[in-house]
Amino acid sequence: MTQGMEGIVLAEKPLFLPIRPRVLHVAPEMAPLAKMGGLGDVVQALPKALRQTGVDCRVLLPAYPCVLGNIEKNQLPLTRLRSTVNVALRWRVYSAHVLRTVLDGVPVYLLEQPELFSNPSIYPMDLDEALALPFAFLSLAALELASSTRWHPQIYHVHDWPTSLLPAALRWHRHYRQMGLGVDTVLTLHNMAHHGILPEQSLEGLGFDPASFGVDGLEFYGQVNLLKGGLLASDAITTVSPRYSWEIQTLQGGMGLDGVLASCRGKIQGILNGLDYTVWSPETDPLLPAPYRVGDLSGKALCRKALLQACGWEENDRPLLVFVGRLVEQKGVDILLAAMEDLLSLGTRVLILGSGHPIYERALQEESRRYQDLLHVHAGYDETLAHLLYAGGDMLLMPSLFEPCGLSQLIALRYGTVPLVRAVGGLADTIIDVDGSPDGNGFLFSDYTPHELRRVVERALSHWRDREQWKIIVRHGMEQDFSWKHSAETYKALYLKLLGN
Ligand code: ADP
Repeated sequence: MTQGMEGIVLAEKPLFLPIRPRVLHVAPEMAPLAKMGGLGDVVQALPKALRQTGVDCRVLLPAYPCVLGNIEKNQLPLTRLRSTVNVALRWRVYSAHVLRTVLDGVPVYLLEQPELFSNPSIYPMDLDEALALPFAFLSLAALELASSTRWHPQIYHVHDWPTSLLPAALRWHRHYRQMGLGVDTVLTLHNMAHHGILPEQSLEGLGFDPASFGVDGLEFYGQVNLLKGGLLASDAITTVSPRYSWEIQTLQGGMGLDGVLASCRGKIQGILNGLDYTVWSPETDPLLPAPYRVGDLSGKALCRKALLQACGWEENDRPLLVFVGRLVEQKGVDILLAAMEDLLSLGTRVLILGSGHPIYERALQEESRRYQDLLHVHAGYDETLAHLLYAGGDMLLMPSLFEPCGLSQLIALRYGTVPLVRAVGGLADTIIDVDGSPDGNGFLFSDYTPHELRRVVERALSHWRDREQWKIIVRHGMEQDFSWKHSAETYKALYLKLLGN
C-alpha cells in the first residue's frame, strides 16, 4: 500500500472526499517553456487556475533544450532531485534525472533524458517505432515519478495522443496495471486530428499485454492507435469546448474514432478553455506600444498605427483584417486563399502571421507580392508581432475547417478586434452573431466555402460603417469574461467526482 504525503491511502479509493486532490498533468508542452500551439497555453494556465481553487496540481514535462533555455531566460529556480526515474523500454532501461522548477506557483517536474528529448520541434514529423519511444517514456515515467518526488498523484491528467499511453498502461501494461486500481485518469482532447498511429510492432518491448492489441484496445485497422487506447482506458474524457464534444461523435468530426467516442459517451464532457488574462490584457500587455481599455480605445488606435508602420503601409481607413495561426488545413487557409482577391476588393487590408505548411506559406507569399499594398504576410512564429496584430487589427479572420476551442478569437475579443469565424467547435461556443442577438460580439458563417467567407466579411463591413454601433460590438467582446476561473472549477468538480466514485 502506498501512503500519500497527506496520509491518504492510495491503493484503494478513499472513503472520503480529499480536501486537496493531487493531480499530475503530463504533457509535452507548457508555455512559455515549450510551446507549439494552444495545448501549451492550456497546460500553463489550467494548473495555475486549478491551484487557485485548492487543487494540488503539478506538471510533468520533458526537459527539452528549449525548456532549459527558457528556464534560464526567465530566471526560474531549478533544482535536481536526488534519485532518477527508470523505465524499461525495448529490453533496456532508460533513466532520467528529475529537475524541478516552479512556474506561476505551479511545481513543474522535468525529465532530463537528452537521448529521447532533443527534438527541437517536440513532435516527430513521422511516427515510426523509434520515434514512439520519447512519448512512451514520458507516459510511463509519469507512473514512476513518485519514487523520486515522494509526491503521489491521485489523478493523472493527460493531453492528446502523446500521453495517451499512460491510461492505456494502467489498463493493459503487465507491470503498471496493478497501479490502475488506486488512481484515476483524465484525458483531454485538444485536437482529434492526430491519433499517434504506429506500426503494430511498436508495442513490442513496451510491456503491454498482447491482448491489448485488439478491437477493444490499442488496435486500429491493423496498426497501433495511441489515442484510441487512451480514450478507452481513461476514466474521464474532456474536450476543450462543449460543441467539440459532440462534433467528435459524428462521422465528419470523429476522424475515424466516432464509433469509439460514441461508446465512451457517458464519460465525455466539454469544458471550454479559458484565457489567461494576466498575459492577454491590453491594459497591461508589455508587448504593446500603448495600453488601452474598454472605456478608452485611444491606445488601440496607436497600436493600429504601429502595426501599419511595421508593414510599411500608409495609414488610411481601410479596415484591417488580421489572421494569426498555424498555416495548416484546419485553420481554413484554403478558403482564405481562394477568397483573398474578393476580400481585398471589398476595400479591406489583410495581415497574416503564421507558420506551417510550406505550400500555404509559399502561396500566401505569392499573393502578398501581387497585392503589395493590401496584403502583408509574415511567415514565422513571432509572439510580439502576434500581440500587435490582435491589438492593431480591426477584425480577426478565423475561417477554420474545425476548431476544438481556439484561443485566437478569445484574445481578439479582449483586444477589441471583432472576430469573423466559422461556426464550428469552440468558435460556435464563444462568438455570438451581431445579426442574431443584441449581445453580439462577432460574426459567424457556416458553409466552408470562399463565397461564405466573402459574405461574412461583407456583413461585418456593413456594420463597420456605423462607427457608433461598431464600438458597441467591440465593447461586448472586451467585457466578456473567458477567464480560467469557471473552467478550473468545472475541472475540479470532475476530479472530486472521480475521487468520490
Ligand atoms: P491551435 O492550438 O490550433 O494552434 P489556438 O487558437 O487554440 O490554435 O492557439 C494558438 C495560439 O498560438 C494562440 O495563442 C496564437 O496567438 C498563437 N500563435 C499561432 N501562430 C502563431 C504565430 N505564427 N506567431 C505567434 N503566435 C502564434
